[in-house]
Amino acid sequence: MGIEFCPLASGSSGNCAYLATENTRVLIDAGLSGVRIETALRALGVDPQGLDAVFVTHEHSDHVSGAGIIARRYGLPVFATEGTLKASRRLLERLKRGQTVSVISGSAFEFKDIVVRPFTIPHDAGEPVGYNFFHGGLKVTVATDMGHISDEGRESISGSDVLLIESNHDMDMLRNGTYPYVLKRRILGDKGHLSNVSCGVFLSEIASVAGGLRHVYLGHLSEENNDPYLAYETVRTILEANGVPVNESGGMSLYLADRHAVSKAVRILSEGEGQ
Ligand SMILES: [Zn+2]
Ligand SMILES: [Zn+2]
Repeated sequence: MGIEFCPLASGSSGNCAYLATENTRVLIDAGLSGVRIETALRALGVDPQGLDAVFVTHEHSDHVSGAGIIARRYGLPVFATEGTLKASRRLLERLKRGQTVSVISGSAFEFKDIVVRPFTIPHDAGEPVGYNFFHGGLKVTVATDMGHISDEGRESISGSDVLLIESNHDMDMLRNGTYPYVLKRRILGDKGHLSNVSCGVFLSEIASVAGGLRHVYLGHLSEENNDPYLAYETVRTILEANGVPVNESGGMSLYLADRHAVSKAVRILSEGEGQ
């Protein structure tokens, strides 16, 4: 089967993505209520009883609010950095001893038939990470909530077969919008969120050097300072202007991760498996 990947929700009102191989089913972030996560999984035809783990990127509630509930209900381990676990202590306090597992940025480890590698992302949280998942020669990456693209981010994201990346805001909408000055500065800052243009420019750079990037989801769109059509067209235009074919055979398939609903799932085959 290779890997199946699907964002269940993406944005400041809640983030959760689903990744499965032949033998393993995991969530990346669980920033929705337990019921919403279960409903989303069932819409995808997945029984929540079959989940194996939750990987949390950082402690902001749009990423972690449902992690404790889901982990308790299905007896799942919760993986996160020490800093994220500490900052999420209240939400995770009712988990059993050993049910929270700390991960270290840059240290890859095996979880069932997946190799997981957390990497540092520049964001205003305790110890935030993105995740690479490797299986059968395939690489899937979740990288949202990044104020800018660091060298580590660039290296970690390059060559992904499937990528969920942030395309958070349109600069003009944010600058001219109603957010207070302090919040605007936070979002625009080095540890805030990635704009549509920054996302498009970065994707163009790594699409031409590293291969991969067969399937890219634009996610974590701001409700107030972005518009799905604008985000998509901005990124697509930048990619095409840089010679990256979008939605053509052999090119990059570009999707929008839905803010509230289950997105289109992607299934990619492992090396050696027929098409
Ligand atoms: Zn977030
Ligand atoms: Zn955040």
